[in-house]
Amino acid sequence: MIPARQLRIENARIVPCEDTSVIENGSLVVVDDRIAWLGLTSEIPEEFRDIDQVVDANQRTLMPGLVDAHMHISFGEAASEEELSIHTPSAYRAIRASVDAKKVILAGVTSACDPGGPRGIATAVRDAISAGLVVGPRMAAAGPQITTQQGIGDTLPSPLGDLPTSIGALVRSRDEILQEIRNELKDGVDLIKIAGSGIGTREFGSFTLGELEVAVSEAHRLDLPIAIHARSRQSVADAVSAGFDWIMHASYMDEPTLESLIQKKIPIVPAMTLLVNSLEAGKGVQPTSTLDAIKRELDAAVKILSMARVNGARLIAGSETGFSMTPYGQWHSREMELFVEFLNFSNHEALLAMTRDAAWAMPRFGNLVGTLSPGKYADALIVDGKPDLDVKILSNSKNIYKIMKSGKFVEQDSVGLERKPHLFERTRVYTHEIYYRKKD
Ligand SMILES: [Zn+2]
Repeated sequence: MIPARQLRIENARIVPCEDTSVIENGSLVVVDDRIAWLGLTSEIPEEFRDIDQVVDANQRTLMPGLVDAHMHISFGEAASEEELSIHTPSAYRAIRASVDAKKVILAGVTSACDPGGPRGIATAVRDAISAGLVVGPRMAAAGPQITTQQGIGDTLPSPLGDLPTSIGALVRSRDEILQEIRNELKDGVDLIKIAGSGIGTREFGSFTLGELEVAVSEAHRLDLPIAIHARSRQSVADAVSAGFDWIMHASYMDEPTLESLIQKKIPIVPAMTLLVNSLEAGKGVQPTSTLDAIKRELDAAVKILSMARVNGARLIAGSETGFSMTPYGQWHSREMELFVEFLNFSNHEALLAMTRDAAWAMPRFGNLVGTLSPGKYADALIVDGKPDLDVKILSNSKNIYKIMKSGKFVEQDSVGLERKPHLFERTRVYTHEIYYRKKD
């Protein structure tokens, strides 16, 4: 039998993220890929005192790796719908994603849920990471987002039809919903994602309640969790009624829906980072009407989500990394900052929302990630400073002294390649302004 690999981290200020407790002068013992023990250094059990590999944390904070509940590894920092769903061949998207995965883990994200993208890519990246071919976070992966003509999975003009590179799978009947779910399970997804609302709709959803019920019951019959993108009022109401496992955004949720969501204990992943970043990045670039609409949604979301928090709903942090407004490795921890700024979370509570609580979005690993607890994967960060008192510390990767996944330290060299977008990744624009002839 191969002897177990043992490692001890000592002189740490441990923030296990099971609750808001902190262990000063703590130690943590890793055996193989799991946490074997943690507690006061003065109380290390006899069997773990004589370990060869010891890491001195030097009073830094030791905390669980971040869990980003909303990250699209296949999106390639797309700046337009066309770029997202048309312009790049699938094979290239997968190679690009394997590089982007490293940027994600170097930001301290050791687990991430990808709720939808072009067919086959997120699952391939997930598998390449777990096979040790690619450096990246542990991943949960959805397939294409199941959509109608009114959902975010089908925003391009109809004549284009179903593109193999699309982020969505267009369904036209209840039967097609069933077929798509069965195909996706066969393709190895960890969860089903429904595109429950479109871009900019505040009121109606993209599916009927009956169709959503078909999707939920088929996914659950096959033992698959099912999540939904729902920004509009009706889409959130119907999602709660149909019994989805979690809801993304919920910006225009009404109060009766909130009440029933709390009763059913359905978590929300707001991804406010995308809204805030879109406002900031779009200033002076996007038309005022677009920025006004985003601002209106942010205001509505802050209002209802603050109410959700006060009344005990579970809010989970996910950054919606993957767009040009949310490039890989840059903004993951901002969602925690926004929970503090807008939703009145304490810093430590925000940290729980991106560790313990976000593990909900990792169905296969839910009870094995998210906290520093014996038996769980040894996914941890050693951090300069006290992120439980100021989550902003995590926004600068220089403050992350060490990143551990499955009991092994990740090499923190930079990704090292300058990103040069290939021509076929970009929408072809002739000129940015109409070139009128000057008259004199
Ligand atoms: Zn998303």
